[in-house]
Amino acid sequence: MIGAGIIGTSAAFALAERGYKVTLYDRAEPGRTGPSWGNAGHVVGSGIFPLAEPGIAWSGLKMLLDPDAPLKVPPAYYAAIAPWLWRFWQSSRGDAYARSLAALTALSLGSVDETEDLWARAGIGALMRRDPALYLYESDQSYQMSLGHWDQRGEVGLRSTHLDARDIAELEPNLAPIFARGVVSHEWGIVTDPFEVVTGLFLAGQARGVLHERAKVDAIAPQGDLVTVTANGGARTFDAALVAAGVWSKTLAQSLGEPLPVEAERGYNLTYPGRAGLVGRPLVLADRGVVVTGLEPGLRLGGWTELGGIDLPPNPSRWKRMRAITDAVLPDLEGAPASEWMGHRPSMPDSVPVISRSGRSPAVYYAVGHGHYGLSQSARTARMIVELVSEVADAQHAPFGIGRFA
Ligand SMILES: Cc1cc2nc3c(=O)[nH]c(=O)nc-3n(C[C@H](O)[C@H](O)[C@H](O)COP(=O)(O)OP(=O)(O)OC[C@H]3O[C@@H](n4cnc5c(N)ncnc54)[C@H](O)[C@@H]3O)c2cc1C
Repeated sequence: MIGAGIIGTSAAFALAERGYKVTLYDRAEPGRTGPSWGNAGHVVGSGIFPLAEPGIAWSGLKMLLDPDAPLKVPPAYYAAIAPWLWRFWQSSRGDAYARSLAALTALSLGSVDETEDLWARAGIGALMRRDPALYLYESDQSYQMSLGHWDQRGEVGLRSTHLDARDIAELEPNLAPIFARGVVSHEWGIVTDPFEVVTGLFLAGQARGVLHERAKVDAIAPQGDLVTVTANGGARTFDAALVAAGVWSKTLAQSLGEPLPVEAERGYNLTYPGRAGLVGRPLVLADRGVVVTGLEPGLRLGGWTELGGIDLPPNPSRWKRMRAITDAVLPDLEGAPASEWMGHRPSMPDSVPVISRSGRSPAVYYAVGHGHYGLSQSARTARMIVELVSEVADAQHAPFGIGRFA
């Protein structure tokens, strides 16, 4: 198995639980280098909407022109991102959009229960608590525009409670009084610290016999019914390989000659140590594309989408703008010290992860491309991988197949 982020460590544990012998490769300490380290820690059971929605071409263009909007593309990456954006736009239309919505709904419904269940089996149940999230809208207009989504969530059984400005002030007294409306989304959880979760799953896997190889995998290649993994100049042959290397999986798929259009959606965070108590629950600043979470490392504000690939350095002006948002939303934090971080979400153009057997080799599998919801969808993905490997459930999981990009 390649990649010990939240997806790889979850799948490794679940496979070991079923009696498979697993070797988990990572070039670094498990969970240290990818977005699994510094994400916002939300376990979202209602993340059913693809980013590529009908009308995204127009709204995306407007966002690109607004320096405070949550979508960015660095000029140096315009040409490289063009093919992905073309697929993204195609995914926003008609049947393609309906298919993505159905796949994400299937992946999300019940995912908080499934996370609780897997983590209890791994002995890390205490790292998550169920906690409804509060979506916040700064104008009645933006709230009205969100109602279609809330209705759609309701139609599939996801619960919400709608609030006015007074309710918000009572629930979250430290927020500036700038929010006109709020909506509580009930199917939600929050972790103590995302890195602690990856570490916990990794250790639980090790306790069940998972072996760790600290090495960068350079290539995978079919070898009859088996598969060869090349790392550190040496090659080893396995019965099967799972690619779960986040956005870096693209290169490994290329070594198999398989198209995997995963791109980095760079997200930025600020973490204020010792200030987690300023908010009572996970918050979503819906008009800003930013979430706020009280975690063990501190109060974390993070989000945004910067389609900038894996090689460009972070853009420090993003943290500056995020600080301005913090000052506007939580005035107590003005001037407070915060650590800065940027991570690469592995994102597919249709927002649907690839949880699938390879089209090039029956011994290779993928669990890649969870975008904004890798932590939230990790337990279900682990179960799906076990089903693909042990029960040949390819037809059942066809909406997540890599064949859609062939
Ligand atoms: C700002 C931000 C906030 C977020 N908030 C949330 C949230 O609240 N809730 C949520 O559900 N999701 C959230 N996400 C998304 C989530 O973090 C990701 O979807 C998830 O971490 C992806 O996990 P992964 O295991 O697929 O990839 P990664 O975390 O990238 O792990 C991949 C691993 O593969 C290893 N690797 C890569 N290449 C190789 C190689 N060639 N050889 C060996 N090892 C290799 C890397 O070292 C890494 O450890 C957020 C993301 C960001 C950026």
